[in-house]
Amino acid sequence: LSPVPSDIEISRGQSPKAVDVLAKEIGLLADEIEIYGQTKAKVRLSLLERLKDQPDGKYVLVAGITPTPLGEGKSTVTIGLVQALTAHLNVNSFACLRQPSQGPTFGVKGGAAGGGYAQVIPMEEFNLHLTGDIHAITAANNLLAAAIDARILHESTQSDKALYNRLVPVVNSVREFSSIQLARLKRLGINKTDPGTLTADEISKFVRLDIDPSTITWQRVLDTNDRFLRKITVGQANTEKGFFRQAQFDIAVASEIMAILALTTSLADMKERLGKMVVANDKNGQPVTAEDLGVTGALAVLMKDAIKPTLMQTLEGTPVFVHAGPFANIAHGNSSVLADKIALKLVGEGGFVVTEAGFGADIGMEKFFNIKCRASGLVPSVVVLVATVRALKMHGGGPNVTAGAPLKKEYTEENLQLVADGCCNLQKQIQIAQLFGVPVVVALNVFKTDSHAEVDLVCEIAKQSGAFDAVPCNHWSAGGRGAVELAQAVRKAASQENSFKYLYNLELPIIEKIRIIAQKVYGAEDIELSPEAQSQISRYSKQGFGNLPICMAKTHLSLSHQPERKGVPTGFILPISDVRASIGAGFIYPLVGT
Ligand code: ADP
Repeated sequence: LSPVPSDIEISRGQSPKAVDVLAKEIGLLADEIEIYGQTKAKVRLSLLERLKDQPDGKYVLVAGITPTPLGEGKSTVTIGLVQALTAHLNVNSFACLRQPSQGPTFGVKGGAAGGGYAQVIPMEEFNLHLTGDIHAITAANNLLAAAIDARILHESTQSDKALYNRLVPVVNSVREFSSIQLARLKRLGINKTDPGTLTADEISKFVRLDIDPSTITWQRVLDTNDRFLRKITVGQANTEKGFFRQAQFDIAVASEIMAILALTTSLADMKERLGKMVVANDKNGQPVTAEDLGVTGALAVLMKDAIKPTLMQTLEGTPVFVHAGPFANIAHGNSSVLADKIALKLVGEGGFVVTEAGFGADIGMEKFFNIKCRASGLVPSVVVLVATVRALKMHGGGPNVTAGAPLKKEYTEENLQLVADGCCNLQKQIQIAQLFGVPVVVALNVFKTDSHAEVDLVCEIAKQSGAFDAVPCNHWSAGGRGAVELAQAVRKAASQENSFKYLYNLELPIIEKIRIIAQKVYGAEDIELSPEAQSQISRYSKQGFGNLPICMAKTHLSLSHQPERKGVPTGFILPISDVRASIGAGFIYPLVGT
């Protein structure tokens, strides 16, 4: 329709097919799905075993230029592209999307089901609760948080004997020590591998974790922007005997458990990763893990359904997996490895799986390649880089774009100079994608205020800057039909020779890996580490975590650490204020700037 109705009107105007019909259409067996209502179903991981000999389809990543706070349409392009491939080019395809957090959904940004005629439906189901994965993460995360404080209280207020009586049944129920427990026993000077042979003294030593409360990094979480919980004091009831301390709530999707859900490859792998999560140090500076606290099994049980991707559909009936969804600025910002792997098997040879990485290519895509592809072993065929005329104008010197405020006239009237000046950001993001050896197709997401001359100019500059192709897309106003040219370009690019490579070697020192990302991706002259960052790096290196990939926590609003610096900032030194580690997820995360 013209004008295009609101997203919710479009979503409600289409009746989705029943999810069991959709599941049958894409080749799932009746016992491979668990239906939630009419339009959502979880898909069992046993499917991977059944389809293990099936060749994978092509793997396409949708990334973006440095965005405005409004978002430039990556989800919308992802959905428009699979609609075009399936309904208009008759190619099997699947979209793998992130599950949105209630934080942004109830904030200015809104949901993440796409928009216009490129949406996942029903929108309310997609944006809220879905099949409860984020709630499961919240439950698991907070169980662990409760276990940490309870343990400190019990160890400090109970005699060795009382503690022994409380914990000995737990130790006695262990049939086999895990590698984490064996490493701890070794540190304690107990060289035994059979749980049945530990003496009472050794058990007392083993159960006492001696957590240093000032080193606790594990926080409670909630999937709501409840700003008054950003800093709290826990333990103020009399029963906690004065063991109060300052703590905080984070948004649930930033939990390490969400990152684990996104990166895990099986139930066994998830359990191992959950056990490895480091929550604090002990008083000797040794890491304390979830496994040390004895909660790995409980966490895995809470997450046993969340590990299965959720099947939904687009407005045109194309299958979609919704699974995992950490933010790309503070976390790695990609949907799950498992959803991608299952989808690649389901589309099979000649088919396409399209997934998206959060924010600009400098953050979401860099982490997709260096972290997610390392975890999965999958090789992407094409990067689709989404650009908009409005974001390019902002990079060319246009006034600030503020969510919720009307756009200034620079953005609603033709201005070729601003567009041309802003294309430096597009050019730089194309070069970043090329560092990984994957062909780039630029998708210019067309808004009704864009002029023909502006659209042509962007596509021309993109091609001159090394993109394999650059095409305008009108899926927002026309659905899959509006992205046929993009689908054809992607299909052509996917048949190209691919020389995919990671940006850095894991064996390099942590500082070197950070420097490579800062210089090659962000364009920084160098990095500058605070004393805290330096001491954390040497602690993690000593603890044996030096060979993990890096997950930078940086603003998404600039290539640099300063959100107001648009275009391609140069001459800056990237400040690393602190460095933390998500050992279960498997990355070190430096905090850039403030
Ligand atoms: P991203 O994934 O990059 O954050 P989204 O795909 O979620 O961006 O789109 C952000 C918002 O912009 C959504 O509300 C969407 O409906 C809207 N939008 C996207 N493309 C267009 C377009 N071409 N015209 C008008 N609105 C659009």
